[in-house]
Amino acid sequence: MLVDTYKTKGMRQTLVNQLRAKGIVDERILEAINKVPRHFFLDSAFLNHAYQDKAFSIGEGQTISQPYTVAYQTNLLNINTGDKVLEIGTGSGYQASILIELGANLYTIEYNRKLYEKAKQLLHKLNYKAHFVCGDGSQGFAAAAPYDKILVTAGSPTVPSILIEQLKEGGKLVIPVGDLQSQQMCCIEKLPHGETKINLHDFFVFVPLLGKFGWKGL
Ligand code: SAM
Repeated sequence: MLVDTYKTKGMRQTLVNQLRAKGIVDERILEAINKVPRHFFLDSAFLNHAYQDKAFSIGEGQTISQPYTVAYQTNLLNINTGDKVLEIGTGSGYQASILIELGANLYTIEYNRKLYEKAKQLLHKLNYKAHFVCGDGSQGFAAAAPYDKILVTAGSPTVPSILIEQLKEGGKLVIPVGDLQSQQMCCIEKLPHGETKINLHDFFVFVPLLGKFGWKGL
């Protein structure tokens, strides 16, 4: 049963205060995090883990991202209401609901069929509307391109050029790039005439991006 009590609301407020102290200042993002009950996205036995600022297992060898990481990536994306956004790595659906709270018209793609089914059902119950796709997001999702923003929530060995192709001019790709141990957050803007501008940010540890343009052999 999905119940949000005074206790879980209080735990969420404490988490928001911690994120603010860690440098997340965008009130819209903090408000969205304050609104979405993160414990709905974890098994109910792990309620006490839901509002700690850490990644947590969601089964299938995958994780729900750390709240700080969700806030950090969302901040780089700078979502405007109505932006068409592609999220690669639906996972639990938590990041997806934050993007929807911020007004994104969201396409979200997940490689693992069980996680795809579970997230789709949960977001439907919570009345969060998105376009759910099960498939290899390392190739983007050409059928609905171009996008204003693309967010990759798994660590990639490179920046797949196919993702830049699927951006609108002026669009933005946020992707963690590196080896399997650590990845640097890259923010790539698509400029006119096929040019790109890359900004490099902090290092994180993500589960690997699988598929054709990810870590193929894993
Ligand atoms: N955004 C998620 C959330 O809020 O729970 C967390 C994502 S988890 C860190 C990374 C996800 O990317 C996993 O669910 C994994 O199955 C998925 N993934 C890995 N490679 C993928 C690919 N090529 N296409 C789509 N999803 C992929």
